[in-house]
Amino acid sequence: MATSPALPATSRAWHLVARPNGWPVASDFALRETPVSEPAPGHVLVRNLFMSVDPYMRGRMNDTKSYIPPFQLERPMDGGAVGEVIASGDERFAVGDHVLHGLGWREYADVEVKHAVKVDAGIAPLSAYLGVLGMPGLTAYAGLLDVASFKEGDAVFVSGAAGAVGSQVGQIARLKGASRVIGSAGSDEKVKWLVDELGFDAAFNYKKGPVLEQLRAAAPDGIDVYFDNVGGDHLEAAISTLNVHGRATLCGAIAGYNDTEPTPGPSNMVMVIGKRLQLKGILVGDHYGMQEQFVGEVGGWLASGELKYNETFVEGIEHGVDAFLGMLRGENTGKMVVTLGK
Ligand code: NAP
Repeated sequence: MATSPALPATSRAWHLVARPNGWPVASDFALRETPVSEPAPGHVLVRNLFMSVDPYMRGRMNDTKSYIPPFQLERPMDGGAVGEVIASGDERFAVGDHVLHGLGWREYADVEVKHAVKVDAGIAPLSAYLGVLGMPGLTAYAGLLDVASFKEGDAVFVSGAAGAVGSQVGQIARLKGASRVIGSAGSDEKVKWLVDELGFDAAFNYKKGPVLEQLRAAAPDGIDVYFDNVGGDHLEAAISTLNVHGRATLCGAIAGYNDTEPTPGPSNMVMVIGKRLQLKGILVGDHYGMQEQFVGEVGGWLASGELKYNETFVEGIEHGVDAFLGMLRGENTGKMVVTLGK
């Protein structure tokens, strides 16, 4: 077994200690020390360098049946992370290799090699494998091109447009020949970034007025595709604005993730019939078959500078929960990432 000189004795890991009711609070979480040991055969010990905080993690804090199991109480939470192998129990992984894996929310991770994917810092910065070249990026790519059956000339509206998924959806639509790309986001700075930097044709701040009014003004000829990251009044406004035979990808409904009562559905569902709309959900896990195509095409756009991305970094494991809650409140532009060390 290959080991770098000194393994740490302990690692800090965020544990869920109470299930949030509504908005999570600091006392729902605890940062605890856990022992670190040499990896068993078929495992690697990874020093995490970047960990992801994602909206879906809020759902995992509830004790409800879903497509992904809930976090267990009094156990370390998990999620996407990229780190460096510091001890290896498998000849296919060497000390110094960088890997993407699913044991985030902790400083050191004992990862079974079948759950570790080598990543190359020479191709893209390591944090990009959690965002633009990772799960959110594939969600954007597959959600637009496959689930919404985007075609050249479509007018596209994306909510949560300044986030990890949304910022990529809008740019892919532009690069693939959308007739118009419209985004909504929660601050004037984000709106400016979408239009000035990412090349959206129009964007609006949903906090400044009714979504429907602002969307109609931004899309005088209606929209053909809606990429929904938000739900609620955004989805309702999109249904009203979609053209006949329009398509919507239902990707997320973050406006309701902290609701304590069931979130009401759109009041205008009957329009789906008259306009023959197609509303289709996406789970990124169904689309890993597109991974090679996604990395090839998006990697090319990144290399040529045609696709831009932003990351908001929060430093230190001790600020992991702050980063997660900040992301839910909209403190990120692009992907929210926690840095754990150099
Ligand atoms: P993100 O957009 O980078 O971060 C979340 C953003 O949501 C915040 O920055 C905030 O931006 C916005 N937000 C928070 N509360 C809101 C509200 N009440 N109304 C409107 N916007 C609100 O996160 P992401 O990782 O890219 O995920 C975006 C969406 O995709 C989420 O709904 C997530 O659950 C979903 N998703 C789904 C899949 C799948 O397989 N189905 C995979 C990945 C992500 P503002 O400042 O603009 O409010």
